[in-house]
Amino acid sequence: MLIVQKYGGSSVGTPERIKKVAERIARYRSEGHQIVVVVSAMRGVTDNLLDMAKTLAPLPNEREMDVLLATGEQTTIALTAMALHSLQVPAVSLTGAQAGIITDEVHTKARIQDITPQQIHAHLDQGNVVIVAGFQGQTLHGHITTLGRGGSDLTAIALASALGADLCQINTDVDGVYTADPRIVPNARKLGEIAYDEMLELAGAGAKVMQSRSVEFAKNYGVVFAVCSSLNDKPGTIVKGETKSMEDVVIRGVTLDKNQAKVTLVAVPDRPGVAGRIFKAMEQAAINVDMIVQNISHGADTPATDLSFTIDKADLPKANEVIGRLRDEMQYQEVIADENIGKLSIVGVGMRSHSGVAAKLFETLSSEGINIMMISTSEIKISVVIDLEKGEKATQAVHRTFLEEGRTLLSEPEIAETR
Ligand code: ADP
Ligand code: ASP
Ligand code: MG
Repeated sequence: MLIVQKYGGSSVGTPERIKKVAERIARYRSEGHQIVVVVSAMRGVTDNLLDMAKTLAPLPNEREMDVLLATGEQTTIALTAMALHSLQVPAVSLTGAQAGIITDEVHTKARIQDITPQQIHAHLDQGNVVIVAGFQGQTLHGHITTLGRGGSDLTAIALASALGADLCQINTDVDGVYTADPRIVPNARKLGEIAYDEMLELAGAGAKVMQSRSVEFAKNYGVVFAVCSSLNDKPGTIVKGETKSMEDVVIRGVTLDKNQAKVTLVAVPDRPGVAGRIFKAMEQAAINVDMIVQNISHGADTPATDLSFTIDKADLPKANEVIGRLRDEMQYQEVIADENIGKLSIVGVGMRSHSGVAAKLFETLSSEGINIMMISTSEIKISVVIDLEKGEKATQAVHRTFLEEGRTLLSEPEIAETR
């Protein structure tokens, strides 16, 4: 079998852990499999690199940022190869560019456009374990790019697709996808399987366990994959296409995104084209806008609206700059950025065929005295923006309402003691 195995940052967080990962890879190889390994930067390294850059420039040049960030994964591939060599396992490390990962030019959030895996095939044919740096690629002009935070998941899934792998494992520090982040909800249950669309919504709503773009890629190319622990051989959670029985479960999971910020443009003139202009500018700056709410603005002399939207906290400096540039043209009164928000979401394909879910969610929050600032829904998701401070309490309450009452726990969460 050809197996693609991804190991995330905490699984390779120290030299000792890299050794454990190497032992695990060696075991799979001794069973006669061909193995392609994708590794992330050691835990905390990417954050440190980002912090260092920001001490030198508040808005660092994004091309140089990618050159910097790619070093994190480059360190891990070499160390993992060395660890395998000391176990007498032949292994070769490859950067994203060497592995043939070609992306567009959007630095720090590049999309994979093509994979030309000749080098990978050649090294596999020679009997090597091939270790590929996750999270990075190169443009057709040879510039190093990165694939957005958590992007090693995408590298693994895209490689599994391009290589026609028989198995794709995302090995992490939890042993599967749970009904909620087990660090927030100790009663969370491990799911045996989950549909792409559910995983996509959970990931997009902040369940860090998978990068959402990687799930989108898996769905588009039909890559079935398993999320499992790098420390044990339990079966993990299978992420795959939807089956009929999945609709029997109304809510598959609840998630809390603490990395969003709410931006409000106060008293924007109420005329056609204004929202289009603002969100076009956001898109041009590669800022993902999530929830949007528009309200009548009180206190303005001419017809005006307050326009609020949420974005990643990390994009806030860039968004402020973009909005600042539009000030003369848009004539809004002021901009208010609120970083103390949390976005709580519930997700399940069963929502399509069950009613009353929204009411139950709002009742649960109100009984906990939690105020809702924004609401958005999709066919299989309801999200609300609430006060960040109350986020965890709200998540626990919502989990109790939808995922605990009348149920028996399938398994206890298993999280490695890494943080
Ligand atoms: P890696 O470094 O392996 O990429 P991440 O830290 O990105 O790992 O993702 C794993 C973490 O995701 C877990 O430690 C857990 O706290 C968090 N997480 C959030 N939501 C969920 C969920 N629904 N199921 C499992 N883990 C979750
Ligand atoms: N090292 C990158 C990050 O921290 C990519 C990854 O871990 O998947 O976001
Ligand atoms: Mg991750």
